[in-house]
Amino acid sequence: MTEPASAPLAVLIVGAGFSGLAMAIRCRQAGIGPFQVIEKGDGLGGTWHDNTYPGAACDIPSHLYSLSFAPKADWSRMYAPQPEILAYLRETAERNGLLPLIRLGTTFMGAAWDEARALWRVETDRGPILTRAIVSGMGGLHHPAYPDIPGRGAFKGPAFHTAAWDHSVDLAGKRVGIIGTGASAIQVVPELAKVAAHLTLFQRTPPWIMPKHDHAIPEITRSRYRRLPLVRRLERARLFWLHEVRAFLGFTKVSKLTGQAEALARRHLAKAVRDKDLRAKLTPDYRLGCKRVLISDEYYPTLQRPNVTLETDGIARITEAGLTTEAGRIHDLDVIVYATGFDVTGTFTRMNLVGRDGLRLKDAWSDGMGAYQGISVAGFPNYFMLLGPNSGLGHNSVVSMIEIQVQHVLDCLTALRTGRRAIEVRPEAQTRFLDRIRSRMADSIWQAGGCRSWYLDASGRNTTLWPDSVMAYRRSARRARMTDYRLS
Ligand code: NAP
Repeated sequence: MTEPASAPLAVLIVGAGFSGLAMAIRCRQAGIGPFQVIEKGDGLGGTWHDNTYPGAACDIPSHLYSLSFAPKADWSRMYAPQPEILAYLRETAERNGLLPLIRLGTTFMGAAWDEARALWRVETDRGPILTRAIVSGMGGLHHPAYPDIPGRGAFKGPAFHTAAWDHSVDLAGKRVGIIGTGASAIQVVPELAKVAAHLTLFQRTPPWIMPKHDHAIPEITRSRYRRLPLVRRLERARLFWLHEVRAFLGFTKVSKLTGQAEALARRHLAKAVRDKDLRAKLTPDYRLGCKRVLISDEYYPTLQRPNVTLETDGIARITEAGLTTEAGRIHDLDVIVYATGFDVTGTFTRMNLVGRDGLRLKDAWSDGMGAYQGISVAGFPNYFMLLGPNSGLGHNSVVSMIEIQVQHVLDCLTALRTGRRAIEVRPEAQTRFLDRIRSRMADSIWQAGGCRSWYLDASGRNTTLWPDSVMAYRRSARRARMTDYRLS
């Protein structure tokens, strides 16, 4: 085995998306180092670098979906489009002096803990790296999932995933088929319908959709936010609480309010779609919140354009010329777009991580993935995850979760600076935490809402989302309790 040429790092941050960059900024501010960020992509930005499909935007307002310690006063819209979010991340990295510390085009292949030296040896496609600690900012939404439909390789035309958009394919005047009706699909469908000769949308399950009310932020407001940071902070707080109450409005549990939220979404549908048959096809048969609740003002009107067909019959096979449905309907297509989401649990469990005493992460997680506060796993000293298991959100900005986790990890890294070699979560603290999560999950909307989603693993357990409010997570995770960790 070749020995890395350079001295060990204090911290290696994996991924230069929202969470990796947030961690890097806070490490720099706290004087923790030397550290480096590795990123498999050829640019920073994570999901906002990968997802360049037409119409890509964030469905959380930008003044909330941004770092509180790296604010931007002049967001152009309530819900900024992808290029603006990506530019924000680039500017934030640059302003915080991170660019020289980020190694792009460097893929994390795995890591093994060296107990004698109390170091991680990280394998990358550009050679090994030694580091005292690893912070994973890899997230779960970066391995595109392709559906297991017979004949998938047979199609002769261009076919690509929303997260790997092929911008060389001109869609103007083409017959385009798109599979999937999740958060990505409902953003791209209105854009595709504007250029395609015909768009066929293959829906397996209709999503719950609420009005979006997106709008440009007028220059006068932007200038006020620039001049008066307190006003901008108040706006952020207002948006936070507006979303936070959704945790109690049925977004995490079936409650009396679930029915009211559903009535609101049904009214949105009824107002937008007059045709009874189409409306029936677009009405979900599971509880709101069970899958991600989507927001759009354009999606329903788009489905009524003359050049758009909603196909709800299951797809039987993909052929050279297009798709055939289970009822035998043939759809001839020029292009197929997969808006079929990501392999989330696979992304985590395939991580080639070998901890103390040769324990492999996939074996530690043979019974389903889980981590103390979604951050630390017993048997894996000095290894921390941002947006790890059970720390995603359905109701509020995930950036709030990242900031809480960054503070927690910072506490652990700071503890390591006091001459300690390793910090590891105590197994009993992890078990206590996971028991709490599991008991809360039992009557959660994802388990009881009558649907299947990427939130659930193969055994039907939700190992991806936090089952409570952000404030509850803040109380639970913001400071690392040293009694729950073992320092050596
Ligand atoms: P997704 O929510 O997992 O949706 C995948 C879609 O593909 C679903 O409609 C699914 O149908 C469909 N599908 C999968 N296999 C199929 C098959 N064999 N036949 C027919 N349909 C099939 O993926 P996504 O839309 O990319 O979103 C993933 C996550 O990314 C979101 O939940 C969100 O967290 C994040 N995201 C966020 C934003 C944002 O604005 N913040 C935007 C995009 C994505 P079923 O529902 O029947 O399974």
